[in-house]
Amino acid sequence: MPEPTGAPTGAETVTWNLQDLVAPPDGAGVDGVLSTAEKQADSFAARWRGRIAGLSAEELRDLLTEYESILDAVGRAESVASLSWCTQSDDPARGALLQKVSERQSALAQKLVFLDIEWANAPDGEAAALIAHPLLERWRHWLTLARRYKPHLLSEPEEKILAEKSVTGRQAWVRYFDETMAATLFDWRGSRVPAEVVLRQLYDEDRGTRREAASAVTRGLNEAARTTTYAFNTLLAEKASEDRLRGYPSWISARNLDNQVEDSTVDALVRAVTSRYGVVARYYRLKKRLLGLQELFDYDRYAALPAAERRYSWTEARDTVLAAYGAFHPEMARIASEFFDKRWIDAAVHPGKRGGAFSSSTVPSVHPYIMVNFQGTAQDVMTLAHELGHGVHQYLARGRGLLQQNTPLTTAETASIFGETLVFNDLVAKEKDPAVVLSMLVREIESSFATVFRQVAMNRFEEATHTARRTRGELTTADISELWMQSQRAMFEGSVTLTDDYGIWWSYITHFVHVPGYVYAYAFGDLLVRSLYRRYRSSGKDFPARYLAMLGAGGSDWPARIVKPLGVDLSDPGFWTEGLDLLEEMVAEAERLSGPVG
Ligand SMILES: [Zn+2]
Repeated sequence: MPEPTGAPTGAETVTWNLQDLVAPPDGAGVDGVLSTAEKQADSFAARWRGRIAGLSAEELRDLLTEYESILDAVGRAESVASLSWCTQSDDPARGALLQKVSERQSALAQKLVFLDIEWANAPDGEAAALIAHPLLERWRHWLTLARRYKPHLLSEPEEKILAEKSVTGRQAWVRYFDETMAATLFDWRGSRVPAEVVLRQLYDEDRGTRREAASAVTRGLNEAARTTTYAFNTLLAEKASEDRLRGYPSWISARNLDNQVEDSTVDALVRAVTSRYGVVARYYRLKKRLLGLQELFDYDRYAALPAAERRYSWTEARDTVLAAYGAFHPEMARIASEFFDKRWIDAAVHPGKRGGAFSSSTVPSVHPYIMVNFQGTAQDVMTLAHELGHGVHQYLARGRGLLQQNTPLTTAETASIFGETLVFNDLVAKEKDPAVVLSMLVREIESSFATVFRQVAMNRFEEATHTARRTRGELTTADISELWMQSQRAMFEGSVTLTDDYGIWWSYITHFVHVPGYVYAYAFGDLLVRSLYRRYRSSGKDFPARYLAMLGAGGSDWPARIVKPLGVDLSDPGFWTEGLDLLEEMVAEAERLSGPVG
């Protein structure tokens, strides 16, 4: 839970006004909204259930309009409950309201689930005619998406068995892994502490502290290795059998379907990134020099450089973001300033408030809300820029309606990282002190490497483990650790000395277990934005207007089609190269700022 630190910033009184959500047009409270929605859902089901396959375009339009209005009401209630809980999570009344809303919401969803099932099972000919019908334009992409799993669905009795057995199968193994990790404690200077406490020490300026922390992490992970290895092996085998039963051609195909991208696009991304691992090596050679070390070990990678940082008041942060947004396009600044002027942001830090930051799209009939914990650091300014990027995106995409406003994971971070990039470049341009610029640049490079190169190296590790499990059978801890080391050595190209201890460090990364194949989406988002930014700098005046139109498209089409008007071809490896060039330029700039090699 965040506690205020340091001098006042002016954000202490910046709280959001949830009236727009709390006071719906009919004046009813959360209970009233939910009761009305429940009645609507009953009558909706009574009228439409069993009829989806045979509907006319007019009927389907009426159905979808009504469906969206029910979801809008429920989403409004859910937003009120969760947003008010976020800023006072220690208030039992707010916790109870959140729990009540989520229970009623899930009961209500059960009443409506027939729509998805019946639509997915509607005959191909009828469905295609409806999807193409001009009256249904507004929902075309949603209708298309809802049917794309059809070739991979089994018969109804088979699906029921799989769903029931997954509770004691996949889900049980994931939970066992999580509980094992949560229960694993690490020796740290006389006490037993959770992983994050030790991992934090890897950022320490003192090398001895970092080395000690790294070996504590290794020891703890080794103690848990028998269990984590067995759980991971089982989940690899489970995925192999499910992919075979459902007819997915590769371990990553099902994930790509969720992300709405072609397998070939992901291949192009991975090939582009792995072919530029040299940029990683170049950066870590610089970092070794900046730290004054002869050899850089795995536990030195995150070491903090001597700090040279500025602090910002809330007003300065607001003005900084609005100026950078406004220089890009006045409309971006106009929308972002509504968040400040109309109190759609909660920025104060106080006990009971949730940590972190987010932008919640809420529902199309209202507007997004942003939560941050502002304490005046440069990182806090970037976080504000990030969340306002989401906010502007969500604001513009509202016009697409509830079913098509949100984008898949692959493009969900576009506007946020783009907003950060605008602000970052503006701050760097205005900063006079080269030491401050260098420290800003180093932080930006390391955070981008963590999302681009590290995630793609992790994707290579996943590819190797899924393939090995499918071809060689059960893997030992040593087998998995060796595949991990291979994927990491490939990325560092000798710039970082990986100790043998580092082999077991795959075993605490929960993404591998929770959502196989997930990690490349981070690299996708980051590089997409860097390439877009490069186009903006080189292609000139009409880019910002086309960019805003792209945001306004929300999730109404395939990502590849939505970015196309910006001159982007996602399946072209050359496209990804542009973003990678920008990363290399940042490394070159950091080299220049750190002076001649001594
Ligand atoms: Zn984000």
